[in-house]
Amino acid sequence: MSAADAFSVNYASARIRFRQGASARGFRLEEYDIGLKSPEGESLTIDVGILGSSEAEGVVIISSGLHGVEGFFGSAVQIALLEKHLVGWNPPPKRALLFLHALNPYGFAWGRRCNEYNIDLNRNFLLPGEEYSGSPEKYALFNSFFNPTSPPSRFEPFLIKAIALILRYGIATLKNTLPVGQYDFPKGLFFGGKRPSKTYEILDANLPRWLGNAKNVLHIDFHTGLGKKATYKLYTETSVDSQRYRYLVEKFGADKVKRIDSARDAYEIRGGLGKWCEAKFPQCNYIFLTAEFGTYPILTVIEALRAENRAYFWGKVDDSVCQWARKRLIEVFAPADKNWRESVVSQGVDLVQRAISACCL
Ligand SMILES: [Zn+2]
Repeated sequence: MSAADAFSVNYASARIRFRQGASARGFRLEEYDIGLKSPEGESLTIDVGILGSSEAEGVVIISSGLHGVEGFFGSAVQIALLEKHLVGWNPPPKRALLFLHALNPYGFAWGRRCNEYNIDLNRNFLLPGEEYSGSPEKYALFNSFFNPTSPPSRFEPFLIKAIALILRYGIATLKNTLPVGQYDFPKGLFFGGKRPSKTYEILDANLPRWLGNAKNVLHIDFHTGLGKKATYKLYTETSVDSQRYRYLVEKFGADKVKRIDSARDAYEIRGGLGKWCEAKFPQCNYIFLTAEFGTYPILTVIEALRAENRAYFWGKVDDSVCQWARKRLIEVFAPADKNWRESVVSQGVDLVQRAISACCL
C-alpha cells in the first residue's frame, strides 16, 4: 500500500476503514452519533479507539478532523497506522494509545471546515468562565470584505483586494483579527459559536474516563492549511524557556516545535482545544501539540474559505460556481497531488511514532 492510499474518498469510507483497522489491531471502539447524516444518508459519528491498559500512566492521543475537511489528512495518518504501521504492535505495560477520529464529522462529510452551526471548533473550547461573545476590535471592519452577503464569483480580483487591505492595515493587524476567533458574526469565518458544541460536550464528558489516572499525556491534533507545502510544524502554548519546551525540542526537533505566538505564520487564538485540554487536567502533565501541515499559500487558503462560505450561505446548491467553491475548499485542505499525499502521510506516521516512543520509553 502506498502512503497516499491511506486517503479515503469521503467521510463514510474513512469511518469504515478507521473502525475496521482499529478493530483488527485490538482497539476498544466507541462511537458518538451527533444526530446528523452524511450526503449519502449515513449517520455521522465521532469514533474513538483505545489500545492498551485501562489504567495507563502514559497516554498518546492522536486526533483528526476537528476542522472537518482537514480530516481527510488526519484520518489518513490514523488509517495508515492502523492498516500498516501498528500491525503486531502493542503498547508496553501502563501505556495506552487513544485515537479520536473525525472530531467534526459534519464538516468532514459535507466538505466544510466548520461544523453544522458554522462553528470553527478550534475556537469553541473556551475555558470555564469565558463568555461566548466578543470579537477582535477590527473584525467588524473586515467583515464586509471577508464575509460578503452574496454568492462567490470566479472572476473577482481577490488577491488584489486582499493585498490592498494588507497594505492599508498591515499584515499583523489582519493576522491578529481575522483568524483568532469571533463570537458575534454567526455567518462569518472563524466563528467560535454561542455555546459549547456537541464535540465539546462529548470530549468534556468522556476524556476523563479515557484518560483515567494517567500522569503523562501527549496529544497530537492533526490539521492542514498552514505553513509551507508538504512540511509541518508543531504548535504549542508552552513557554520557550520551560523544561517542557526543551523536552519537546529534544523529542521532535528545534525546526519543528514552535511556540504559537513566536511563529511567523501562526497566531494566538481564543477557544482552542489545546489550552482547554491542558487546563482540564491540571493534575497531569498534559502536552498538546497542533500539527499543521502546509498545503497552499495562506491567501489561497483564505480565498477558498471565503468563497465556500459565501456559497454555503448565499449560493444555490446546484450553481456551478458554488460547486467549484466547494471542490476548491477540499483541494486547499486535502490536495489531490499524489506526491503531497505520500509525503504528508509518511511524515505524519513518523511524527506519531516519535510521540509513541517519547511517551512509551
Ligand atoms: Zn485546522
